[in-house]
Amino acid sequence: MKIQEQVSLKHFNTFGIEAKAQYFVEVTSEVELIELCQSGFLKNKTLLVLGGGSNILFTKNFEGVVIKNAIKGIVFKKSGSLIRVNSGAGTNWHELVLKSLEYGANGLENLSLIPGTVGASPVQNIGAYGVELKDVFERLQAIEITTGKVVTFTKDQCLFDYRSSVFKNDLKGQYIITEVTLNLHNTNEVNTSYGVLKLALKEKNIRTPTSKDISNTVIDIRQSKLPDPTKIGNAGSFYKNPVISKIDYVNLQNKYNGIPGFTQLNNKVKVPAAWLIEQTGWKGKKIGNVGVNPTQPLVLVNYGKGTGKEIKELSIAIQKSVHSKFKIKLETEVNIL
Ligand SMILES: Cc1cc2nc3c(=O)[nH]c(=O)nc-3n(C[C@H](O)[C@H](O)[C@H](O)COP(=O)(O)OP(=O)(O)OC[C@H]3O[C@@H](n4cnc5c(N)ncnc54)[C@H](O)[C@@H]3O)c2cc1C
Repeated sequence: MKIQEQVSLKHFNTFGIEAKAQYFVEVTSEVELIELCQSGFLKNKTLLVLGGGSNILFTKNFEGVVIKNAIKGIVFKKSGSLIRVNSGAGTNWHELVLKSLEYGANGLENLSLIPGTVGASPVQNIGAYGVELKDVFERLQAIEITTGKVVTFTKDQCLFDYRSSVFKNDLKGQYIITEVTLNLHNTNEVNTSYGVLKLALKEKNIRTPTSKDISNTVIDIRQSKLPDPTKIGNAGSFYKNPVISKIDYVNLQNKYNGIPGFTQLNNKVKVPAAWLIEQTGWKGKKIGNVGVNPTQPLVLVNYGKGTGKEIKELSIAIQKSVHSKFKIKLETEVNIL
């Protein structure tokens, strides 16, 4: 384990933003990580656990220690129709999806092609095309940073919510996730509840889709809509879809005929942030080196030489426009540092 100084993070974040880490250390095993936590080096320093950097916006240099999680490994265990998979937190998420499908373990197909690592997936309870991580999650193992102690978190303890968990709230910055255990299966059960996915399968004339069909279709949809971060810097959806009260939604409906909304529990309605952004005229806009993606306005992009500050300023301008038109507060999904 080597602690480096003044390391460029440009290739460690999918926005491709230039920022330097005061200290940078890559850990490849749990033992190494425990050693680092117990060495005293981290004491009184600001820390950042970094996976694939696909949900982070650096607006300045990071004065502290960046711990790059590179703990790999995937192990499957079969018991009847249940297939339990243990994955190291540094494994690439999409690699886990593909390896699971290859093994015959279904359940992750709707979450195909989400960038980043397995270790970050519980942090914001990743979700796409009708499925969230919590739907397949069993438990995770993490290291308590101040003591180096190994701790297990069950699903209930993770307090999963829409793009949220205990690791984004009460326990933020206190644990490093090292291993995630998911419950998959080898039955034919698939989830085609999500409208766009259903439509795409219909267009392909696939009536009884397999998990692989779902995965391929999700990959096709994503590739047609989302900019590839290896070509145009971005971190996927910059904002969460706001969830508002039914009364507020009905009032908006009276004013803006056609406003889309998805009914949630407790008399709430989820409104697509992309629609709100489009209605305020931001879709496809370019300001200097940064802009709003023309096909999916929820995605802010770095056209090459943009800075984190420029992206942050753009995001604030969008939030202001949406708030002034709809009185809705857009919350960021991306972690701004
Ligand atoms: C093109 C594109 C599409 C995307 N689509 C989706 C989508 O459909 N659905 C979705 O939910 N997200 C999506 N995202 C966002 C992103 O891919 C996910 O949030 C992903 O889980 C982030 O993983 P990461 O390893 O890159 O995390 P990072 O960006 O490195 O870190 C994100 C946060 O998690 C913390 N963290 C990372 N690893 C650990 C660990 N081992 N222990 C503790 N904390 C940790 C970090 O400190 C940080 O706070 C997309 C991003 C892009 C670029």
